[in-house]
Amino acid sequence: MTSTDFDAVIIGSGAGGGASAWGLAQYGLRVLLLEAGPAYSPSEYRLDRKEWEQSSFPDRARHKGRYTFGEMQELQPGLKGLRSWNQVRGFLNNTGRRAIGAYHHMRGVGGSTLVFSGEAQRLHPGAMKMRTRFGVSADWPLSYSDLEPYYCRAERLVGVSGDSDDRVRFRSGPYPLPAHRLSYASTKVEEGCRRLGLTLSPNPVAILSRPYDGRPECNYCAQCGRGCPRTDKGSIDVTFIRRAIGTGLCAVKPDCRVTALEAGASDNIPHVTYTDSGGKVHRVSGRVVIVSCGAIETPRLLLSSKNRYAPDGVGNESGQVGRNFMETLFWFSSGLHEERLGSFRGIPVDSICWDFNGPDAIPGIAGGCRFSPAVAEADLAGPISYAQRVAGGWGRRHKQEMRDAFGRALVIIAMGESLPNDRSYIDLDPHEKDDAGIPLARINTFVDDMDIRRLQFMSLKAREIVFASGVKKIFEEFSAYDIFNSSHVFGTCRMGIDPEQSVVDQYCRSHRWKNLFVVDASVFPSSGGGESPSLTIEALALRTADHIYSLAKKGEL
Ligand SMILES: Cc1cc2nc3c(=O)[nH]c(=O)nc-3n(C[C@H](O)[C@H](O)[C@H](O)COP(=O)(O)OP(=O)(O)OC[C@H]3O[C@@H](n4cnc5c(N)ncnc54)[C@H](O)[C@@H]3O)c2cc1C
Ligand code: SF4
Repeated sequence: MTSTDFDAVIIGSGAGGGASAWGLAQYGLRVLLLEAGPAYSPSEYRLDRKEWEQSSFPDRARHKGRYTFGEMQELQPGLKGLRSWNQVRGFLNNTGRRAIGAYHHMRGVGGSTLVFSGEAQRLHPGAMKMRTRFGVSADWPLSYSDLEPYYCRAERLVGVSGDSDDRVRFRSGPYPLPAHRLSYASTKVEEGCRRLGLTLSPNPVAILSRPYDGRPECNYCAQCGRGCPRTDKGSIDVTFIRRAIGTGLCAVKPDCRVTALEAGASDNIPHVTYTDSGGKVHRVSGRVVIVSCGAIETPRLLLSSKNRYAPDGVGNESGQVGRNFMETLFWFSSGLHEERLGSFRGIPVDSICWDFNGPDAIPGIAGGCRFSPAVAEADLAGPISYAQRVAGGWGRRHKQEMRDAFGRALVIIAMGESLPNDRSYIDLDPHEKDDAGIPLARINTFVDDMDIRRLQFMSLKAREIVFASGVKKIFEEFSAYDIFNSSHVFGTCRMGIDPEQSVVDQYCRSHRWKNLFVVDASVFPSSGGGESPSLTIEALALRTADHIYSLAKKGEL
């Protein structure tokens, strides 16, 4: 056992933890960043190998966490139109229950942003008041204007390219970089949207359209999900963490998994216990402890950290840790365009239709959604995916179909609000444990009626856009209705004013444990109408860091 003192011990180095590290180190605070996964170097992300399409992000020991699922939801026989299918394989889930796909995430210095697509969107201000406006979900205890200056700071730090003309989301400053030009394939979707009276705009992305901050501009290889070898993608390791290390005040420890928060007698967390890659156990202390393990692992750590001061787990006095889990509500429609588009080129999601993103934009349904061209998101970037999912037949016929199809895929993704409900929560698996004997997180998930109605809208509109863009026939659809497949996960440690209904306050500070903060996607009271969450997590982290610094200056920590 060893012991070292820091101003802040941060657990998890993804969007929340990495941004917190920079947020505190910039003020001269000494930070220890503990990360369960390995450290990667962008030079490892090789897209120039023959087998590039079969290999995803480099696999290393501990690069994924383990988790289990509760009983999956029964599907409704009348909702066949929402099922996932493919013209080669038929229905992708042939059972009567929702299938288990995956919680897509990455363990490593930079967290899930190592593989993210770089979307850097702000929340719709109206989506932060779902309880007041529609009686669903919960209100954020802060407003869009509280977050706005921090959005600007996060955008400058990661280098967001975007179009500053936004009538819904007030901006106090322009994006640091101009928007990317739309790919040729996306111009077809732009035309299709126009035919339908919709608007397709450049998507704000943490992907450089010009050299910035010592990093080069993007080369439009579309492979962000396999790791960006050029470092132009604003993942947390090459932005916030690189800067935090540059202060000389931030120590990063990869392959170090925190196994317990040790609650103390005076409503403080005096120690954190972690195990390094060699199995050695360490104990550290910090004036503040920030938990940033993501919306699945954060509740797991809090719930499993039981002792006599925290018999139900740390921060779980109200029984709210793990509750209000929200997943990715998605719909994909894919077809072949009549023209050869070269649609494997570009950034993964270069444009977006915001027309239905407002929480009241879909008639009769609370919570909005958004639509985007997304060929790379559907992983239709190389010949193997075409051979398996698009081209039929054998031998000569297959070859001919491959020649005809390649580069013509056009995909629309829709993502929508996911409302919390009583049957969606994270708890500790009663049977399955990790090698340290800690129960695994169990994902319990349920898509309720309002979400199903929103999915129905998303499916109809996505098909309309695909056809209006020049596709004659759809070959594949993929849906959250019958397959859980989430890369955006939220909730589980909700922020709020009422300690009975939430886990942390508006500064992400535990209602009870005075030196404990939770800064990651788990604090979201509502998911938003399909906006990707990283920029909001980073803005929250910077705001929390400012608050911690002001408390420290006043001697209140
Ligand atoms: C394929 C993919 C594409 C995505 N695309 C986008 C996008 O375009 N835009 C966007 O905004 N979002 C995107 N996301 C989602 C985004 O990456 C996440 O929402 C975001 O990274 C969440 O931040 P976080 O801090 O909550 O968790 P994470 O970034 O997941 O970080 C949590 C970290 O905590 C570590 N950890 C967990 N437990 C412990 C422990 N006990 N001890 C020490 N460390 C621990 C993990 O190893 C991990 O590194 C995408 C995600 C995926 C998987
Ligand atoms: S598309 Fe751009 S940001 Fe994405 S991996 Fe390629 S070079 Fe990097």
